[in-house]
Amino acid sequence: MSVTLNDIHAAAKRIRAHVVETPLLPDEVLSARLGQPIWLKCEYRQTTGAFKLRGATNALLSLQPRALARGVVTASTGNHGRALAHAARALGVPATVCLSRLVPENKVRAIRDLGAEVRIVGASQDEAMAEVARAVEREGMTEIPPFDHEAVVAGQGTLGLEIAPMDPATVLVPLSGGGLAAGIAVALRSLAPQTRIIGLTMESGAAMAASLAAGHPVEVGESPSLADSLGGGIGVANRVTFPLCRDLLDDVVLLTEAEIAAGIRHLGRAGHVVEGAASVGTAALLAGKVAPTGPTICILSGANIDPALHSRIMAEAA
Ligand SMILES: *Cc1c(COP(=O)(O)O)cnc(C)c1O
Repeated sequence: MSVTLNDIHAAAKRIRAHVVETPLLPDEVLSARLGQPIWLKCEYRQTTGAFKLRGATNALLSLQPRALARGVVTASTGNHGRALAHAARALGVPATVCLSRLVPENKVRAIRDLGAEVRIVGASQDEAMAEVARAVEREGMTEIPPFDHEAVVAGQGTLGLEIAPMDPATVLVPLSGGGLAAGIAVALRSLAPQTRIIGLTMESGAAMAASLAAGHPVEVGESPSLADSLGGGIGVANRVTFPLCRDLLDDVVLLTEAEIAAGIRHLGRAGHVVEGAASVGTAALLAGKVAPTGPTICILSGANIDPALHSRIMAEAA
């Protein structure tokens, strides 16, 4: 297999000084309602507000010193871009983020504030990606992709090591490119082989769900979602995460926007301010789309939601 339990143990050792072990807290309301212990892995409290710091840090620390000196590059403006910029600064490595002109000014500023060089090129994500390829080709930078990369998957898998001692019946994992789900699944398949691992994503624009259904990576149209961190393709040339998700996930469950909003609201009432992508596990339990058969862990993957949007969702009745 492309990523092994040993890789994940090695990653945990490498990144230990750079990430925090996030708390696992009970969801009292859901536990009482569903009659099984429901746990929340509060990874939204990770430095930079999402688990992506685990994979980005492991990928950087896996590079040779000469590659580090030439710098790293990505086109992600989301949680991966933030994580890579943060990890690079912490390690004294130059980081470049390539963006299209369409990326809003506040996002550009946020990335610059993290110490990364920002290159604004063209008017589409494709043109930003082309600039990444040029930086790799001409300047010798190393691209650190958001999910389809062994060291990134191994880094995300360290989260699996932290929940394995619970020997959960079910783990509910937000699913986009599949780096998080693949990493957790590799860890749990060895350490807690009875655990059911379920990927959760939104109904429309879910590339991994469509690819698993088709039996090979496919492209899907993007639609706006409250779970914006779950958007984007998996790459038609996907090497690592598609085969791992195909072989190791027990099921994939799709959620409507109303269900995702209900998940955000439920968590918000308990003091967990999370983004839509992080709420999908609790959303599935609330909607009755997953029936817990024993201790169940929801991975609250990230915190980065616009505060005004969060307030609006909290104010909606339901
Ligand atoms: C990236 C991300 C995901 C999805 O992770 P993949 O590895 O792409 O499947 C889920 N939640 C949050 C908050 C993320 O930033």
